[in-house]
Amino acid sequence: MDLRDIDTVGVVGAGTMGAGIAQVAATAGYDVVMRDIETELVEDGFDRIEDSLDRFVEKDEIGTDEREAILDRIAGTTELADLADADLVVEAAVENMDVKQDIFADLDDELAEGVPLATNTSTLSITTIASATEREDRVVGLHFMNPVPVMKGVEVVVGEKTSEAAVELAHDFAEDLGKETWESDDKPGFVTNRVLMPWINEGIRAFDEGVATKEDLDKGMRLGTNVPMGPLELADHIGLDVCLDASRTLHEELGDRYKPAYLLKRKVDAGDLGKKTGKGFYEYE
Ligand code: NAD
Repeated sequence: MDLRDIDTVGVVGAGTMGAGIAQVAATAGYDVVMRDIETELVEDGFDRIEDSLDRFVEKDEIGTDEREAILDRIAGTTELADLADADLVVEAAVENMDVKQDIFADLDDELAEGVPLATNTSTLSITTIASATEREDRVVGLHFMNPVPVMKGVEVVVGEKTSEAAVELAHDFAEDLGKETWESDDKPGFVTNRVLMPWINEGIRAFDEGVATKEDLDKGMRLGTNVPMGPLELADHIGLDVCLDASRTLHEELGDRYKPAYLLKRKVDAGDLGKKTGKGFYEYE
């Protein structure tokens, strides 16, 4: 298992994260096959990638030729079987254990023996996801941050049976994409979401209880604690459904201090998921 053996990267999911991962892998020169469940969702993924590449072109960070070359390296599909020749697969489908285990079991059947499988899960157990396969030593967490093409960090998550070789490959691959890595044990929420989600939920509760307007709450946290986004704007940016899924897992695993805020559940039920639906705590064009 060596970085030099990897030419083609499979990406499962063409949403916020999957499209970003496909983009950074293709930018680093890998051939990418990006899979979602419907053609329209694959097309949405390409739209996201094109918009993001356009911003890099506007900032003169890449030329138009390179933009085209990157797009040419990405193939879209709705068939998992089209990932059969991948040398590494990164899964970024919805944050649901049953869905992820089904995907991993199917990938285990489709892919050549020994091909490593990474998951971008924010909170779910790598060990439990890996247990759906016959290659548990090759399953590793590769937790990219949002937006993937911009954020420099990737959390490498080590499951109970993840081999040292798979961990090393995860670091090497992320670094080859221009990222910096750190490692977390396979404990709920890993390093980042274990600490982030209570902060977001407390921000939502404080807003719901009338401590401040949403603007002042976010401004207070930005200027008062030197973070680039306050909790409500960050939640919109991540996706409120993604925050709720992550909070529920942490609540289940770690108890009441991780209980999701009521207003978070109400907004998700109302379909206001943040930037991706045009409305969360704020409204977006
Ligand atoms: P998203 O809702 O934007 O995209 C998920 C995509 O997966 C959707 O397009 C959906 O159709 C697709 N999908 C569902 N089942 C599938 C299947 N069987 N095969 C292929 N595709 C399938 O979600 P997202 O924000 O991109 O999150 C994806 C993963 O990344 C989740 O595990 C999430 O926890 C994690 N994550 C999200 C963020 C974030 O800020 N949004 C950050 C880090 C990690």
